[in-house]
Amino acid sequence: MDKKVSVIGSGFSSLSASCYLAKMGFEVSVYEKNHTVGGRARQLMKEGFTFDIGPSWYWMPDIFDKFFADFGKKTSDYYALDKLSPAYRIFFSDDIITIGDSMDKICTEFERIEEGSSKHLRKFIADAQENYDIAINKVVLRPGLSPFELVTKETVLKVDQFFKSISGQVRKKFKNPKLISTLEFPVLFLGAKPSKTPSFYSFMNFADFGLGTWHPRGGMYEVIKAMHSLALELGVIFHTDSAVEKIRVTKGKAIGIIVDGKSIDSDFVLTGADYHHSETLLDKQYRQYSEAFWSKKTFAPSSLLFYVGFDKKLENVEHHNLFFDTDFELHAEEIYDKPQWPSDPLFYVNFPSITDATMAPDGCETGFFLIPIAPGLEDTPELRKQYFDLLLARFQERTGQEVENNIIFKESFCVNDFVEEYNSYKGNAYGMANTLLQTAFLRPKLQSKKVKNLFFTGQLTVPGPGVPPALISGKLVSELIAKAN
Ligand SMILES: Cc1cc2nc3c(=O)[nH]c(=O)nc-3n(C[C@H](O)[C@H](O)[C@H](O)COP(=O)(O)OP(=O)(O)OC[C@H]3O[C@@H](n4cnc5c(N)ncnc54)[C@H](O)[C@@H]3O)c2cc1C
Repeated sequence: MDKKVSVIGSGFSSLSASCYLAKMGFEVSVYEKNHTVGGRARQLMKEGFTFDIGPSWYWMPDIFDKFFADFGKKTSDYYALDKLSPAYRIFFSDDIITIGDSMDKICTEFERIEEGSSKHLRKFIADAQENYDIAINKVVLRPGLSPFELVTKETVLKVDQFFKSISGQVRKKFKNPKLISTLEFPVLFLGAKPSKTPSFYSFMNFADFGLGTWHPRGGMYEVIKAMHSLALELGVIFHTDSAVEKIRVTKGKAIGIIVDGKSIDSDFVLTGADYHHSETLLDKQYRQYSEAFWSKKTFAPSSLLFYVGFDKKLENVEHHNLFFDTDFELHAEEIYDKPQWPSDPLFYVNFPSITDATMAPDGCETGFFLIPIAPGLEDTPELRKQYFDLLLARFQERTGQEVENNIIFKESFCVNDFVEEYNSYKGNAYGMANTLLQTAFLRPKLQSKKVKNLFFTGQLTVPGPGVPPALISGKLVSELIAKAN
């Protein structure tokens, strides 16, 4: 079997699919518009500082292990992993919560905030673990072709959890607003408000407290490098600086792509670029979803990001830090309900150089700042500056230190860059949210309904946003391509 597959994009999902397809015997060529592979997970290196441009939380290590095991490999064949201790720190206006690297430590912290809460927490996480086993080992491994995929003997017993929100579940057992925010944080990775996210997704809480937060030494880009190396070992051919201009279709069947005006023939086309953009590469009659369809969907937020080099070591911060010292509800409303620049945003900061000396020059700190914002907002240099000043002032106040004069450089990334660099719909950062009506078979499909031999993968399709789902998406689509062959 040496049929050809043209793969558009080289993000996690495309890399995953390329590895599986090459292992099955397909001749795989990847076309990436940017200069380096990795998509949203690329790397910025500047003046001795190393930044992950996108993802920084390595959660669900079992999924990475399974991916490499499918090729007879281990993650340690490619990168070293450290479990972070503490996992992260949350700054509130009147307190700091530190999330340790074990349930015992986390329970002690919960008890400090709310007496008796650790008993509820242990039960909540035990239920979340059950959901994790069902979701990750069964439901998520299905390609989203039919509603019946969600029906297993385990999910039938938990059907109510698909209709109740995680927010409601958390509030039943925990009263302290700081604990509520802490337990609602993990589902933010799914891209929607906790009040719109089914409580079945509490499996993210098990990923957080049960499995822990890990760091690939050198940063998340080490995982991209590992998958790229594996793909090369398997014979995948990469073309960077190669923006695909068109998906060629004849008589309802994909027959290749056009890159730089040149036609490339292949038996299958698989696109891991944003789904909306991928469909614009097709003539109108071959698109499955209208502009109206996309505009009604709940997208994960976009982000305003800053990559900052500091000329000193910082104090009172950990590797991962969440600043939840303002109104969570108001910020969520300004992302989802009345899209606008946030009046008083929550934000996230990481300093990987705190635990990993390779990521900054000696005596320096690598800082990554992120404010989630609504996709499609106006993005100007003035707004970026205004929000950086606001971030820095809050950061200095909460952590009790002056850092303003210790900045060697800062780079920013926002809506316009997401559109320009990744052809992202409205500049979304991490795809289409996992809400009840945007789960599994209700998401845009892995296989085109209109064009034979055309397939899609990535964070806008099944199973959803995030690095672990991207790995799974690549596996699922490769199995569908093998079936269609
Ligand atoms: C700021 C940020 C923080 C995040 N944090 C985390 C985190 O901590 N943990 C986590 O698990 N997830 C996180 N995520 C989400 C995670 O990074 C994504 O879900 C995942 O990387 C998406 O992979 P993908 O393959 O679907 O898409 P992408 O990475 O976007 O890959 C698509 C590729 O297609 C290319 N492309 C687009 N158009 C064309 C074209 N016409 N021709 C050729 N190539 C094209 C793009 O350049 C890109 O390389 C974060 C995302 C962002 C942006």
